[in-house]
Amino acid sequence: MAFQALRGTSDLLPDEVARWSALEHRARRLAALYGYRELRTPIIEDAALFQRSVGETTDIVQKEMFQFEDRGGHDIVLRPEGTAAVVRAYLEHSLHKTEGFAKLFYLGPMFRAERPQAGRFRQFHQYGVEAIGSASPWVDVEIIVLCVEILRAAGVQDATVWVASMGCRDDQRRSAEELRTQLQPHRAKLCKDCQGRIEKNVFRVLDCKQSGCRELGWGAVKGSPFLRCDDCRAHFDEVRRGLKDAGVAFDDSKVFARGLDYYTRTVFEVRAAGLGAQDALAAGGRYDHLVEDFGGPSLGAVGFAAGIERVLTAAERQAAGAPAAARRGLFLAVAQPELLGEGFRFIQQVRAKGVRATLDYDGRSLKAQLREADRAQARLVAILGEQEQQARAMTVKDLEQGSQEQVAFDVFAEQVASRLKAGGCHAC
Ligand SMILES: [Zn+2]
Ligand SMILES: [Zn+2]
Repeated sequence: MAFQALRGTSDLLPDEVARWSALEHRARRLAALYGYRELRTPIIEDAALFQRSVGETTDIVQKEMFQFEDRGGHDIVLRPEGTAAVVRAYLEHSLHKTEGFAKLFYLGPMFRAERPQAGRFRQFHQYGVEAIGSASPWVDVEIIVLCVEILRAAGVQDATVWVASMGCRDDQRRSAEELRTQLQPHRAKLCKDCQGRIEKNVFRVLDCKQSGCRELGWGAVKGSPFLRCDDCRAHFDEVRRGLKDAGVAFDDSKVFARGLDYYTRTVFEVRAAGLGAQDALAAGGRYDHLVEDFGGPSLGAVGFAAGIERVLTAAERQAAGAPAAARRGLFLAVAQPELLGEGFRFIQQVRAKGVRATLDYDGRSLKAQLREADRAQARLVAILGEQEQQARAMTVKDLEQGSQEQVAFDVFAEQVASRLKAGGCHAC
């Protein structure tokens, strides 16, 4: 019987993992430069956590969560997003007392039980950044700038930033009231979900998966439907001013609603050219009530999450031919199987110096071993045979420079390491 990975999930083979690691490394470095520290939360959480934060009437909670009962009858989900879990952990460990303003990031798998289709996965991966404990519009600016910088470092040069304001909860209440009144006469034209949403959560009509519902919804609202009070207007003006100062081009004419209930004030999305209308690479916004809703103090917070699969796809489409992978490390070819033990001791010495070293264990011909060294993209090949044994010196070929020399056994590891390390890291 042949097994396959489940639909909507995928294996990452080593070449792909190398691209992922490079992206993760850059994202971690940039987050650190901006003062954000990594937080890791479990993959399973209480289902109520997302029902209460993302929202009962959202598609994520209604249709897309991997939800199950454990043996003790607890309602559990595989986390569909990161923010709610970060806020839970923030409060559970009283970071509001120990850190005050907490700048955090995370990286890991998220799960949604969607029907698999192009660009959508049941297990997908996100990195996310959250700044909890400040209401300043400058934190919104910092978060958006960091988001754009991370995408740029990942190789996405051509991206568009959409920014809007959802207003505060008062603004949203007033907007909801009006939208409800406007949509009532058109109820029959909405999909079944949206008919229920008119009473329960009318904004979800604006991001319904049915385009007919979205058109009706957006037809009913005009301009910036959520922005009603002076405080929210001033906040949004400051965010736009900050983005201009920071040299981030943005479009604030595309009014949009995010598909999660917890957003207030600034929301944004970053979309890549060349990825189709598909979806945003990264999206986020302010969630000024979530900490309080979870039983904590009243604190402003803002964050974003980026989809790693989508970012890598966009970077690939925009890349003007990736550079060839550099040759790395040492391959030791052993001419006779009897010398394997001695060969193994040598590569252990090289590894101890922080240089990648491999060896053929299967007694293949020297020719086959040299072919293997080339396939594995080794930079140096050392040959250990009878001749070398007698001379107490290894034959070392440099596959990049095409040179060859003899290196005495007792300085072998040292010479290999100093030669390779001059050209950068040879461990990974
Ligand atoms: Zn307001
Ligand atoms: Zn609908």
